[in-house]
Amino acid sequence: MTITALDSWIVRRTGGISGPLRSDDLAAWQTLRLRETLARAVAGSSFYRKRMAVPDPLAIDSPADIARFPFTTADDLSADPMAFLCVGQDDIERVVTLNTSGTTGTPKRLFFTADDHALTVDFFYHGLLPMTAPGDRVLILLPGGRPGGVADLLCQAVRRRNCTPLVAGVPANISDMAAFAARSNANLIVGFPVPMLAMARSWKEQGLATASIRTVLLCSDHIAPSLPGAIADLLSVEVFSDWGMTELAYGGGVDCSCHCGYHLQEADFLFEIIDPDTGAPQPPGCSGEIVVTSLTRRGMPLIRYRTGDISHLMPGRCPCGSVLKRLGRIAGRRTGLIRLDDGVIALPDLDEALVLLPDLVDFTARFTRENGNGTLCIRPLVAGALSPGLSRRVRAALEASPGLRPLLDSGRLTLRVEATRRFGEFAGEKRVIAREEAS
Ligand SMILES: [Zn+2]
Repeated sequence: MTITALDSWIVRRTGGISGPLRSDDLAAWQTLRLRETLARAVAGSSFYRKRMAVPDPLAIDSPADIARFPFTTADDLSADPMAFLCVGQDDIERVVTLNTSGTTGTPKRLFFTADDHALTVDFFYHGLLPMTAPGDRVLILLPGGRPGGVADLLCQAVRRRNCTPLVAGVPANISDMAAFAARSNANLIVGFPVPMLAMARSWKEQGLATASIRTVLLCSDHIAPSLPGAIADLLSVEVFSDWGMTELAYGGGVDCSCHCGYHLQEADFLFEIIDPDTGAPQPPGCSGEIVVTSLTRRGMPLIRYRTGDISHLMPGRCPCGSVLKRLGRIAGRRTGLIRLDDGVIALPDLDEALVLLPDLVDFTARFTRENGNGTLCIRPLVAGALSPGLSRRVRAALEASPGLRPLLDSGRLTLRVEATRRFGEFAGEKRVIAREEAS
């Protein structure tokens, strides 16, 4: 059995020297860190001090004891971000303001120390090991290289691997970016899933050389199941996937060379899956909301933070031999799911239905609800000449989608495919279904 790079990293951190990571050693580490985190949160954060009594460390026997504590929500973070701060403001290296979640409409602010960032760089470095070799060139198609931003932290990990990072931002012009990527002689390209597929298609259409590129890493948005295979076929590369969140200082999980689930960063976080309605823990294999507790964060520890992402823990062990928990594919955002009487509309399902249409670069989706019935408007976006028959093929693909078909058959949902437009540019953030709901 080989020992994965992530497992080896965690073995060293949990006090071991060599050999495979043992589940009980990891659980013992998590229990100690959990006790520390709970004590630090109650001592340093006014939010947690109001909410929880000082926990008795000896009453925390195992990581599962986390289930006794209340959840933290995005709205809690929005309401009073400073109430979560556990260090002096001089110790904060970066503040991130997020406008995209919660129901209050007010932004979340997140605080990270240099130590918090160093752990993320460590995680990125070990995740990169199976994707790179020393001397490689790594093209990073992610927004911003601000200090402490995801591109900056990734650059630090790439340099530690003795590779050369090249940050080029989110592709605005797909064909130009494909040509640039080909000229860059990159060996690994890191970027958002949908722009990466569009770029891979353009790469192929332009007949650009693919000799240098060996691997692609998809991150920062959900990934339709068919998408990695499509990119792998177009560019003859191995495609890896990553799941992370800004709230975790961009940490989370990454897949291994077996490509069956994200190996989770379990030395730094506890991961739970809960029923989004009842809060009850869900066993492996059952879908629910991902809940995260930070174990080693200093600036802003989070206890049972409801991420809003829907997924499941995969049963059994990965063929690579790692004991780390594996997260299945992200099925969408809890707040992004549109519920109708006969089912649910989720952007990942629309992606899965449409991403393999070869002339489609992207699409916009808008949902309107009136008197209990919904209308879903899809506008196809293309990079080059307007493609004849594309609207008809988009409609056929959506009508055949297992997620949409029952809704369309019941008459609860009407599908409207709007006129195709030229693609503008990728926003550099997670894509969503726009919603207009009449009360
Ligand atoms: Zn694995």
